[in-house]
Amino acid sequence: FSEPAPEAAAAASSPDVVLVMLRDLTQQRRLEQMRADFVANASHELRTPLASLSGFIETLQGPARNDVAARERFLGIMAEQAKRMSRLIDDLLSLSRIELNLHIRPERRVDLVHVVREVIDALGPLAEERGVALRLIEQAPSLPVQGDRDELIRVFENLVENALKYGGSDKGIEIVCAASAREDGTREAVVSVIDYGPGIAPEHLPRLTERFYRIDVPRSREQGGTGLGLAIVKHIVNRHRGRMAITSDVGRGTAFVIRLDLAHSPLSG
Ligand code: ADP
Repeated sequence: FSEPAPEAAAAASSPDVVLVMLRDLTQQRRLEQMRADFVANASHELRTPLASLSGFIETLQGPARNDVAARERFLGIMAEQAKRMSRLIDDLLSLSRIELNLHIRPERRVDLVHVVREVIDALGPLAEERGVALRLIEQAPSLPVQGDRDELIRVFENLVENALKYGGSDKGIEIVCAASAREDGTREAVVSVIDYGPGIAPEHLPRLTERFYRIDVPRSREQGGTGLGLAIVKHIVNRHRGRMAITSDVGRGTAFVIRLDLAHSPLSG
């Protein structure tokens, strides 16, 4: 091992290097803080339905013991709260699974048009229940991308479900599948989920994909939301090296646009 070169020693004490080290430290602190916030938020989110369950159990053991009507009603609420906890745990587990695999790009060939059709079929009953029409606009007959089919289904399920939950209107919801050429000559698949609902004020847009960020918490709860949907979407899209853009006009509606590299060769099964 030789002595460090004089220029290396000089660099180590240079203001630039110190600055980079400080920046790394700040970044690390920020990550630690984010992790701590996440655990605190997740615990809080789980504690709320749990407190409600405990409260109802106590009431059922005591004052409401012999009240058949109250028992029926309380059991209904308790079942809802238990479902909410289980949805939250499912979402937390998906998020951590996706994060663990973050560096691995999914390899399978998937047709996004099929994925979107499947999602529309699956959400048909919910759309009908809400009286909102789902329209698929196929500007491209197929959109082959490299990806994980289940994860991509999750992306569009979340986006279309959100459009139904927060963006429903008598103009319905459009899902547009298109292919487009980039400036460098490569091609991309572009899938847009467009609603004509109340829209999202600009100050919320940059924070929408943060875990547990919700514009209206009671409304999200009432819709069965966990506040993790868009965080999951963002992670899956990143894992596929894609991009998501959100544009919204208050009073007019919102568009979530997902862009992924189009695969070159034809679909193989
Ligand atoms: P949630 O489980 O609350 O639905 P998401 O992460 O999926 O969580 O969405 C975060 C928040 O973004 C929602 O609570 C809602 O306030 C807002 N949001 C999402 N999609 C739309 C939309 N299409 N129109 C208006 N607001 C939306």
